[in-house]
Amino acid sequence: MTDSCIFCAIVAGRQPARTVYQDETVTVFWDIHPQARIHLLIVPNQHIRSLAEAEDVDPALLGRCLQVAAKVAREQGIAETGYRVVTNVGPHAGQSVFHLHFHLLGGNPLRLPLG
Ligand code: AMP
Repeated sequence: MTDSCIFCAIVAGRQPARTVYQDETVTVFWDIHPQARIHLLIVPNQHIRSLAEAEDVDPALLGRCLQVAAKVAREQGIAETGYRVVTNVGPHAGQSVFHLHFHLLGGNPLRLPLG
C-alpha cells in the first residue's frame, strides 16, 4: 500500500467509492467518469504500478482479476451482450492512475477500432 495512491485508499476503505465486490485479493468499484453504461474498475488490492511492473507478481493474482471481471460482468447482466476488459500502460495509453487496474466496459455497443 502507498499513502498517496487513490486506489490503495479505496481498497483500504479510506476513500469512498461505489464498491461492488471485494475479496482478499481484488476490489471492484464504479469508475467516477464512466465511458460506457457499465464502467467498473477491477483493482488488485496489492499496489502494482501497472502491467509493466507485474513480472514479479503472483500470476494467480492477474488471473484472478480477469476471473472477477467475468463474474462481475455476469452479475451486471452484460455477459450475453458482451463487454471489453482493458488495461492502460504508460503515457501513450493514457494511464492516469498508477495502480494496476482493468477497465470493464459494456452495457452499450463499444467503439472500434481500439487504437
Ligand atoms: P487510466 O486512465 O487507465 O489510468 O484509468 C483511471 C481511471 O480511474 C479513469 O477512468 C478515472 O475516471 C478513474 N478514477 C480516478 N479516480 C477515481 C476514483 N476516486 N474513483 C473511481 N474511479 C476513479
